[in-house]
Amino acid sequence: MLNQIKGLHHVTSMAGSASQNNKFFTDTLGLRRVKKTVNFDAPDVYHLYYGDELGTPGSVMTYFPFPHIAKGRPGTGEVGTTVFSVPQGTLSYWSDRLGKAGVDGLKADEAFGEKRLHFAGPDGDGFALVEVKDDARAAWTGNGVGADEAIRGFHSASLRLRDEGATGELLSFMGYEKVDEKDGVLRFGIPGGNGADFIDVETMPNISGARLGAGSVHHIAFAVENRAKQLEVRKALMDTGYQVTPVIDRDYFWAIYFRTPGGVLFEIATNEPGFDRDEDTAHLGEALKLPTQHEHLRKQLEEHLEPIA
Ligand code: ZN
Repeated sequence: MLNQIKGLHHVTSMAGSASQNNKFFTDTLGLRRVKKTVNFDAPDVYHLYYGDELGTPGSVMTYFPFPHIAKGRPGTGEVGTTVFSVPQGTLSYWSDRLGKAGVDGLKADEAFGEKRLHFAGPDGDGFALVEVKDDARAAWTGNGVGADEAIRGFHSASLRLRDEGATGELLSFMGYEKVDEKDGVLRFGIPGGNGADFIDVETMPNISGARLGAGSVHHIAFAVENRAKQLEVRKALMDTGYQVTPVIDRDYFWAIYFRTPGGVLFEIATNEPGFDRDEDTAHLGEALKLPTQHEHLRKQLEEHLEPIA
């Protein structure tokens, strides 16, 4: 069993409009845009990152906005709900705030003894806020949500699977422990994690596979401290029979990817070097940053990409 993984690193999804996406995560949810860059493999598409002040691993929601993409169809083999942590007693504030912003899908419930507020992202993305007592992570307060209410980072994500068996075994191998089970949902937690500590596995044997599109999660990334730990995880996964990509430099972290038995794409990402490697902390996310190999396209890209505030 591995002990290098410390919770979630980031969650990456697909969007339609970049400006709508940007407005939602900064104005409505109050997160900080910590990087404005482009997709390494399709540089005419943005890659937008939102999180806390520095884009601390475990707080980072990222998007590929494709202007004309069709909506995704929810199903199995994907991340269902991405859940953010907020302080205790703040769900009425959030319900009011999201309601006033015209956010869809508001629904309060309770799971594993925690109060949650479900809501939909601009493309129907499945999100929830959960009240967490004493989450010590610092909140970003630069976008109009005060420290008493602001999002602390991720709390968890759910995986929708036809069959949880092999994925449950994989999570256990990755260092997760089964911590609870309620109404057919298995909760796994990582000991000594970064705060984004839980994975909820929902088994849906009769639901067909998801179709990727706007509002769908593309992949979910788990955090390791550094490249040495990442190589240990890569070797262990490959020794277990997983096909894992080589280490890929993503400028702000190093990444490896592998497809899980239930169909979800997992990434293992390093905490180093971080989003402040090429920008001052005070101005994170403001300028368009391009991967070196795409720098020669800057003029075209600046004309082509949808302007965002
Ligand atoms: Zn990623």
